Amino acid sequence: MNLGILLWNKCDAKCAHCAVSSGPDQHALLTDDQLKRAIDACFYDDPAPKIGLSGGESFLYFKRLIYIVSYAASRGAIVSLNTNCSWALDSARAERKLGLIQEAGLRRLIVSTDEFHLAYIPAERVINVVRACKALNLEIELQFVATKTSLRLADFLKKYEDEFLNVRVREIPCHPVGRAVQEVDDDAIFRKPGTPTGCCPSAVLSIAADGRVIPCCNTAGHLPALQVGHVDDAIEDLHLKFRTDAVMHLMQRKGPHIFVAAATNAGFTVDRRGYVDQCHLCHDLFRDSNVAAAIKEYAANVVTEEVLNTVVGNSP
Ligand code: SF4
Ligand code: SF4
Repeated sequence: MNLGILLWNKCDAKCAHCAVSSGPDQHALLTDDQLKRAIDACFYDDPAPKIGLSGGESFLYFKRLIYIVSYAASRGAIVSLNTNCSWALDSARAERKLGLIQEAGLRRLIVSTDEFHLAYIPAERVINVVRACKALNLEIELQFVATKTSLRLADFLKKYEDEFLNVRVREIPCHPVGRAVQEVDDDAIFRKPGTPTGCCPSAVLSIAADGRVIPCCNTAGHLPALQVGHVDDAIEDLHLKFRTDAVMHLMQRKGPHIFVAAATNAGFTVDRRGYVDQCHLCHDLFRDSNVAAAIKEYAANVVTEEVLNTVVGNSP
């Protein structure tokens, strides 16, 4: 079972677009026991699960981070990690810290920068990390969030062009959720008219820093209506619940747009300005508890009908 873990929500930055509203004033964190139980559970159906660690800023509690990476990797997990690079004050420090974490078993580092991060963390620290990863042969990916009016990835790459040779880069449209609702100009959000028809792109059972078990770390994953359980419950049972859940089943096979008609009957109004993508639509569909309840009922009926049709179709 693959798992996403948001270790703590404390962060040394307070980015305007932060979907999980992390910052220096946040204090939720998972205990060592909770983390170890969650990591142990990943092996119940897979000898080499993928475990993604993020925050908040993951390097803030470095000794704990090393311990967690080492615990997961020594059991056989393929561990990746997100960071904002604030700790990489110079190249030597970046290489030393990354060397330690690579030794603990880290396989892949995902670094974030963009106009929102740059308000707190200079680009040079990201470059220090990129250089260190190359020196250590540690796989690295850059994630860059943009709006219509913000710095764009192409401009950033142009400035640092050779540094990003052989580095996978991804520009991500800012979603109007979390802190971005208040702090990012809605007119600058990339919306496309109509309702997006794509499938759910990346649902992975995840644990939030406050212990909630959720269906993904993306925009809608943090909504109460989609919560799967709590980290203190049996994680294997929660994984089974997640895998067999009618809503998630349809979301992954057909996409959140399949729920629009049922949601509209329950009072949902399609946003005439359009949506960023299917995760944005998913967030809007599930943020109202009455609409979410109607969608769940619809999904249960559709899946029951599918099962009945299969049984009847297979009967002699
Ligand atoms: S986007 Fe990342 S770096 Fe910025 S406040 Fe959120 S967790 Fe911290
Ligand atoms: S479609 Fe919804 S459940 Fe799937 S990844 Fe996006 S926000 Fe998460």
